[in-house]
Amino acid sequence: MHWGQIGPRQIVHALTQAQDLRQNGPLIYMKEIYWREFAYNVLYHFPETADAPLRPEYADFPYKPDAEALHAWQKGRTGYPIVDAGMRQLWETGWMHNRVRIIVASLLLKHLLQDWKAGARWFWDTLVDADLASNTLGWQWSGGCGADAAPYFRVFNPITQGKKFDPEGDYVRRYVPELKHLDAAYIHEPWEAPEHLLKKANIELGKNYPKPIIEHKAGREHALKAFETFRK
Ligand SMILES: Cc1cc2nc3c(=O)[nH]c(=O)nc-3n(C[C@H](O)[C@H](O)[C@H](O)COP(=O)(O)OP(=O)(O)OC[C@H]3O[C@@H](n4cnc5c(N)ncnc54)[C@H](O)[C@@H]3O)c2cc1C
Repeated sequence: MHWGQIGPRQIVHALTQAQDLRQNGPLIYMKEIYWREFAYNVLYHFPETADAPLRPEYADFPYKPDAEALHAWQKGRTGYPIVDAGMRQLWETGWMHNRVRIIVASLLLKHLLQDWKAGARWFWDTLVDADLASNTLGWQWSGGCGADAAPYFRVFNPITQGKKFDPEGDYVRRYVPELKHLDAAYIHEPWEAPEHLLKKANIELGKNYPKPIIEHKAGREHALKAFETFRK
């Protein structure tokens, strides 16, 4: 699609022809194509959004640029297993599932209070499907500053998201080998694991796998505080 070898109209046509649209799969797939079209529509009508938020007031959002935090996120060393797995998958393969893109974006923008442009730039450099329209829409949606955006105060919890979407921890184990031998019950929050289980799994928190870069509750609270300051 990116190179124009197949167009969205062809896909929508094929879906309506070949599949029973009442089934879930084709309908969901069609919606994804619509998202892409929506992203292109926004970028076409608001070309400045590649560099600036669609909602201009967000240009004054009190982000706290922090090169060290950004680097830890980029390298998959935040101490949140689902985030680290996603960021390492991105680095190794150039791809990441949409759900994980949303989770890692939320951590960078909310817990770590980094500018959406820093995240967008990293995705631009590392994604094999890097696309100016969809990447801009995805980041501005996550940061609450774009079209049809998730409100800024919606802060994803990387622990519960991990448990919900990777219940056995298979995804984490694949990309974060340090946690390979940890019990599934603690794979998304290794800092809660009893000492003997950490020892058995060869994990030394803060040594061979980082402690959380910021505690979830504290991260959520300071994101909400920044939003409150911004709103005032
Ligand atoms: C922070 C963030 C950044 C993103 N950056 C990009 C990017 O640079 N390039 C990109 O193509 N997508 C981006 N997305 C959207 C989405 O994550 C990917 O399109 C999707 O994961 C690609 O996997 P797939 O081909 O298996 O998608 P499928 O689920 O198979 O969907 C089929 C096609 O529909 C389109 N599509 C699906 N979801 C979306 C969506 N949410 N927004 C726009 N188009 C969509 C894509 O062209 C995709 O290939 C981003 C999402 C977020 C949250």
